[in-house]
Amino acid sequence: MRRPGRHFLQIPGPSPVPDAVLAATARQVIDHRSPEFAELGLSVLSKLGPVFQTTADVVIYPSSGTGAWEAALCNTLSPGDRIITYETGHFAALWSRLAERIGLRPETVGENWRGGVDPQAIEDRLRRDAAREIKAVCVVHNETSTGSTTVLREVREAMDAARHPALLMVDSISGLASADLRMDEWGIDVVVAGSQKGLMLPPGLSFNAVGQRALEASKTAGVARSYWDWGEMIGMNRSGYFPYTPATNLLYGLDAALDRLLAEGLEQVFARHERMARATRRAVQAWGLENLCASPRHFSPVLTTVLMPEGHSADAFRRTVLDAFDMSLGSGLSKVADRVFRIGHLGDVNELTLVGALAGCEMGFALAGIPHQKGGVEAAMRHLSETAAADA
Ligand SMILES: *Cc1c(COP(=O)(O)O)cnc(C)c1O
Repeated sequence: MRRPGRHFLQIPGPSPVPDAVLAATARQVIDHRSPEFAELGLSVLSKLGPVFQTTADVVIYPSSGTGAWEAALCNTLSPGDRIITYETGHFAALWSRLAERIGLRPETVGENWRGGVDPQAIEDRLRRDAAREIKAVCVVHNETSTGSTTVLREVREAMDAARHPALLMVDSISGLASADLRMDEWGIDVVVAGSQKGLMLPPGLSFNAVGQRALEASKTAGVARSYWDWGEMIGMNRSGYFPYTPATNLLYGLDAALDRLLAEGLEQVFARHERMARATRRAVQAWGLENLCASPRHFSPVLTTVLMPEGHSADAFRRTVLDAFDMSLGSGLSKVADRVFRIGHLGDVNELTLVGALAGCEMGFALAGIPHQKGGVEAAMRHLSETAAADA
């Protein structure tokens, strides 16, 4: 059945891609060993550092974010190495499981699906590690399954307070280019990222930003690796090339997306996401529904996760919204499956897109018989109009 207008993709990644970025990918494929390719390679590589707020090398893989998770671990660690994680949600748990599968020994020092990492739990565990057996602390910046963001600066401070030399590795797959991430200033050794969230690209690229200490560790790291190896990649990147066929057309898109982000300015990009998030939270509050993130200082600028009233299926509600209004909302994952739905407000989303998305939710509640109060859209509109720049 033909549906008029645009589908509303309001899941927290993949996010809507700007038309200009899509158009940039629609080009004939070029020879990836040609001088023309090297220009593209050098162009994207030079623009990535500013977005990660680092002077470190940024490696680009043709893979989903999961590949970059694996790359971060296998380039820096050896079989049997201990790492610590904190379960902020489904993605933190999956990264830990991946670590175990490749022969590492992850230990979860705490769990909170309704807020960010507790830095004290990290500090306490590191202090007890007198033998310095723990080689890395792995945390998720923006936990996309719950809608909470960890204050990374505090994790760094906890590690420093314990005077522990472990590497700090951060999954910012959904945080990068939406939530502030200062790799160098916050002493992060590896940042893992993906193309399909804040970078506003289709799925298919992933990233490792590799700090000096991580690069040093990679020289002796013993986990077997070939495809993911940083050494060869960083070596060839110096001249703009890649050791194997890169995702050329996605790199055209990346170049265009980075131009847009840098032209807008990161401060403005973060402020824009924060404003969308606040408007969304106003709506949730007005509906009389609960935000899964129960800790205001950890509210995510990327997405908002809404708890369904007891006895009501979030998946049935999402299905109603999809059928009636052609909008995709994010599902609840693992422990919160069918209990929550997620509203993505990242990437190429403006005020009216958001208001439309919230209207779709509010109409969906009525259709699906979900107990709620009216006025959510109104509350969001009030916030958006009150905070609109007069000259914008
Ligand atoms: C999307 C996401 C992942 C998984 O990335 P894939 O591209 O699906 O492999 C991991 N962590 C976080 C925080 C994410 O948002």
